[in-house]
Amino acid sequence: MKIEKAMCTGCGACCKVCPQDCLHLVPDQYGFPYPEIDGKCINCGICDLICPVLHKHRYSSQTAYAAWSRDEEIRMRSSSGGVFTVLAERILSDMGSVYGAVYAEDFSVRHERISNVKKCNGAKYVQSNLDNTFHSIKEDLENGRPVLFSGTPCQNAGLKSFLQKDYGNLICVDFICHGVPSPHAWRSYIKFREKKDTKSGFIRDINLRSKKSGWSHYAYSVEFSYSDGAQYLVPNGDDIYMKMFVNDYINRLSCSACAFKGENRCSDITLGDFWGIWDLYPDMDDNKGVSSVIVSTEKGGGFIKACSDDLYIRRVSLEDVNKWNPSYRESASANPLREAALYYAVKGKYDFAERLLFSDSPFFRLRRKLFCKQTRNEMKEHDRK
Ligand SMILES: Cc1cc2nc3c(=O)[nH]c(=O)nc-3n(C[C@H](O)[C@H](O)[C@H](O)COP(=O)(O)OP(=O)(O)OC[C@H]3O[C@@H](n4cnc5c(N)ncnc54)[C@H](O)[C@@H]3O)c2cc1C
Repeated sequence: MKIEKAMCTGCGACCKVCPQDCLHLVPDQYGFPYPEIDGKCINCGICDLICPVLHKHRYSSQTAYAAWSRDEEIRMRSSSGGVFTVLAERILSDMGSVYGAVYAEDFSVRHERISNVKKCNGAKYVQSNLDNTFHSIKEDLENGRPVLFSGTPCQNAGLKSFLQKDYGNLICVDFICHGVPSPHAWRSYIKFREKKDTKSGFIRDINLRSKKSGWSHYAYSVEFSYSDGAQYLVPNGDDIYMKMFVNDYINRLSCSACAFKGENRCSDITLGDFWGIWDLYPDMDDNKGVSSVIVSTEKGGGFIKACSDDLYIRRVSLEDVNKWNPSYRESASANPLREAALYYAVKGKYDFAERLLFSDSPFFRLRRKLFCKQTRNEMKEHDRK
């Protein structure tokens, strides 16, 4: 395969088209999936031809809006303005299929065909497992059902590559994406939280985008609720997992050189948080969440129009959206301490990671400076035991 590991997004399109069925996604030590050849390869090169990083399908962004769902309940349970739910419910009411990221029973994250949109609500900051979603979408499309797929820009690109055809009945929705964290770091974080927050309960619900503390000026909170009534509710800036995510310690390597940034999209519609709305249109900032909506195709524009009765929507410029949201155009470089951070995160040593990465004490500041040598030796030593 021609793609470098550092660029591979793990979309799995290559595995799904391999005529020999000799390519499979295998999780690395952090749980990020990568394709691996199992020996029967005949060097046909189809995997390279299909790879969305090597061969891009692109549309040019045209129109941007600030919007929210007119249904307050939908808006409050969504990350930004609840636009995704309005779009998804429209497809479901037309007897279509909606595919999006949900929490499984163990709170790992995977893509599913959903009938209850609530399952999809809220950003889940971890790479979602696409499993057999692409095949199932193709089947629905071939059966003439309207389909909405929602995922990261690279997942949308993977789907488009896999399908190799522009289906009129498919609406692709991506979002402005900061990056996706490690599935193993997430799994360990859930265990870490449960141990810390409750004596005998278990996790009932997780909301990484709780609006109990508001939304404006990035005020959202992280919330874990437990069966025994215990609760963990803190501003996102005080949560170690979120700090490691936004500061690029635990994201997939390809996120630091993302091939799917900027105006040329692989989706029909791109959603995001309309950060900065407080400066731009203060009259829209009621602290309940505003979505940015960027339309890249005629099909996407027609679909937004069809949903507009359920949306409060205002035309804005693309510049307005991007001013406060660098993730639209730029990748964030991986943090130099990424390897150490992932090492401790996967082991569930979040208290130590907090000190190592963020403590102001002279000891840890020095340790960060010396990290390369000292921590790597320690990591090796730990692995030997
Ligand atoms: C990993 C990640 C990074 C993001 N980074 C940014 C950013 O830098 N800037 C910004 O403006 N917005 C970002 N967003 C998008 C933003 O948080 C909202 O998801 C988006 O604005 C849609 O919000 P909503 O209110 O319409 O709907 P919601 O109901 O909140 O939308 C949830 C949608 O996101 C999808 N989704 C949730 N988690 C995942 C996942 N792990 N993988 C794939 N799809 C998922 C669901 O399928 C669903 O369609 C990010 C989202 C995620 C998941």
